[in-house]
Amino acid sequence: MSETQMIEKNADVKPGEELLVVEDLHAGIDGRDILKGISLTIRRGEIHAIMGPNGSGKSTLAYLLMGRPGYEITAGTVTFKGEEILELAPDERAKRGLFLAFQYPQEIPGVSVVNFLRTARNAIHEEMNPMQFMKFLKEKMASLEMDESLVRRYVNEGFSGGEKKRNEILQMAVLEPDLGVLDETDSGLDIDALREVSAGINAVASPQRSMLLITHYQRILNYVKPHVVHVLINGKIVRSGGFELAEELEKSGYDSFRDEG
Ligand code: ADP
Ligand code: MG
Repeated sequence: MSETQMIEKNADVKPGEELLVVEDLHAGIDGRDILKGISLTIRRGEIHAIMGPNGSGKSTLAYLLMGRPGYEITAGTVTFKGEEILELAPDERAKRGLFLAFQYPQEIPGVSVVNFLRTARNAIHEEMNPMQFMKFLKEKMASLEMDESLVRRYVNEGFSGGEKKRNEILQMAVLEPDLGVLDETDSGLDIDALREVSAGINAVASPQRSMLLITHYQRILNYVKPHVVHVLINGKIVRSGGFELAEELEKSGYDSFRDEG
């Protein structure tokens, strides 16, 4: 199946239509409230950024979207392509087109990146044999200007911070999700790695595909321009707006937003 056919196959939601709708989501852990009523709507093709200080609940939101167990969801709904997903297991969500890149990628000794990626891809899309997959992977790596030597190595083993993040962008490119959630993909990157990772995100973004960039710092937004910026403080989105909101944050910091929570 060509990439265009694949996109058409997945395009049961047209560009601009609502892809992810989070409504009044309340969640916590061990009786402690972390998310206190999150609402946001991401349309197909849009890039959203969630910015917030440490501990505001950014990663919690990302994990809840992907279905990580252990959270108590006390209110609210999450709808993806018109379907309620909070009851679905993580792999079911991945099959429906959700992708999450973790803040702290895991090492998987003994499993090469190529095999890992092929297994992940085949679990959610029409199966490719090893040769078909290699051809597909080489195209993806070329589009991301990535070095082929990386995929021969074991997953994340001995990877530098930058290599781990690049590997995640490659994973996202290979899985071709409808929505990619990137949790602090920019953290710990030097300026060259940040540029490369950003170029990768831009290469994967498309009118069919949406991105949710979760970040503490404004700097990645100099390279990946979001359509919508949300400021998350203490479990609440205190403000949403355009790119100018990120610029305002850069100037004034989070303190000026705290009162709004
Ligand atoms: P962020 O990603 O914005 O830095 P997190 O979502 O990781 O924030 O955390 C939000 C709050 O929830 C923090 O105060 C954190 O200590 C708390 N928290 C997150 N995960 C757990 C957990 N597994 N157990 C207890 N508290 C947690
Ligand atoms: Mg976090």
